Amino acid sequence: MESSEQSLSITECKDGDLTTLGPLELLILQPTSFCNIACDYCYLPDRQLVNQMSLDTFSKIMKNIFSSNVLGSKLTILWHAGEPLAIPINFYKQVSKEIKRFSPQNCQVTQSIQTNATIINDDWCKFFKDESIILGLSIDGPDFIHDRHRKTRAGGNTHAKVMEGVKLLKKYEIKFNVICVLTSFSLGYPDEIYDFFEKNDIRQVGFNIEESEGINTSDTLSSSEIRRKFRYFMERIYKREKEGHVQIREFHKLRQYFTHSLQKASDQRIGRCDIDTRSYSVSRPLNIITVSSDGDASTFSPELLGMFSPEYPTLKFGNLTTDSIETIANSELFKKIFSDVTEGIAMCKKECDYFTMCGGGAPSNKLSENGTFRSTFTKYCKTQLQVPIDILLEDLEQEFGLTNKSK
Ligand code: SF4
Repeated sequence: MESSEQSLSITECKDGDLTTLGPLELLILQPTSFCNIACDYCYLPDRQLVNQMSLDTFSKIMKNIFSSNVLGSKLTILWHAGEPLAIPINFYKQVSKEIKRFSPQNCQVTQSIQTNATIINDDWCKFFKDESIILGLSIDGPDFIHDRHRKTRAGGNTHAKVMEGVKLLKKYEIKFNVICVLTSFSLGYPDEIYDFFEKNDIRQVGFNIEESEGINTSDTLSSSEIRRKFRYFMERIYKREKEGHVQIREFHKLRQYFTHSLQKASDQRIGRCDIDTRSYSVSRPLNIITVSSDGDASTFSPELLGMFSPEYPTLKFGNLTTDSIETIANSELFKKIFSDVTEGIAMCKKECDYFTMCGGGAPSNKLSENGTFRSTFTKYCKTQLQVPIDILLEDLEQEFGLTNKSK
């Protein structure tokens, strides 16, 4: 999933104890599965299908959400996957009215859109501005890297169009962050990627690694050689970030964690999910709910909604146009998956030195790589989780003079 909302949080939920669910803080809505471009590493099934969430479906979903006991005091609605801007702007104008009309007074609702930025125009910018929409853009760096994988359906380049969108956002002074997907090719260009973001005054960037999830099983980051290249890439990015102006999500979240840990050291609450109130936990049940254009719903990792596993009849927990969240939470399927995810986290806690900082990883990665939630290490752990932690810790050790000089 190309989203900036991944977290390093841990769950404290007890198996089968439904009082520990939620709070629901991130609702990911898929307004359409259709995408107007065709990146070759995309994991989404049905991205060629032209469909759209109806207003009626949206209203039923929100009625369910707003009346649920798991709703927190803040809710982010993230429009994501396929390309949210591929459907008419009028849909979002209507839903924005509905959100204002029906959201409970004790819940602050904000909207966010993750977009490939190829469709942004003046009308969209005015709408983003009017509704204070938070934007996440998908840009893989300079054109010779971005255009290698992010192609139009006819095989053409998309970078120039994306940069037109960036220019418009800047004209309207709309803030945005960027997700940059890393492939084996882009790992050879850390400075070019950092320079690109710095030069274009793009200040918040997160790196997602091309993964073997969903329909995309051709990931390029499996070999030890690639992992070595990734380590070098992140070391270089870390060095550049310390001297530059582009904030890198992976290091920023860890710094927040360490700052919080130092503050909280006295009460032994290291690793709790309150390390960053803007973080969401993929391992905490119902903290994130993902809903397809026809109302099918899933929780834990957003990617689960499009995945299949021989271990479970389905990874869709219900349909929010007809099932309440409480009904879903009481289903046998939900309890079974909750129990398996919890067991996987307990295994992580027992076996992995990184647990206090990681919290047990993403259930979707465990399922896609290991075939079960009841498991620990994945390629995702070795790269996206452990490498940034090692780099930051080694730097802190040097800074505080704790490096073992006899090594
Ligand atoms: S094994 Fe992976 S998912 Fe589990 S705690 Fe360690 S780094 Fe995290």
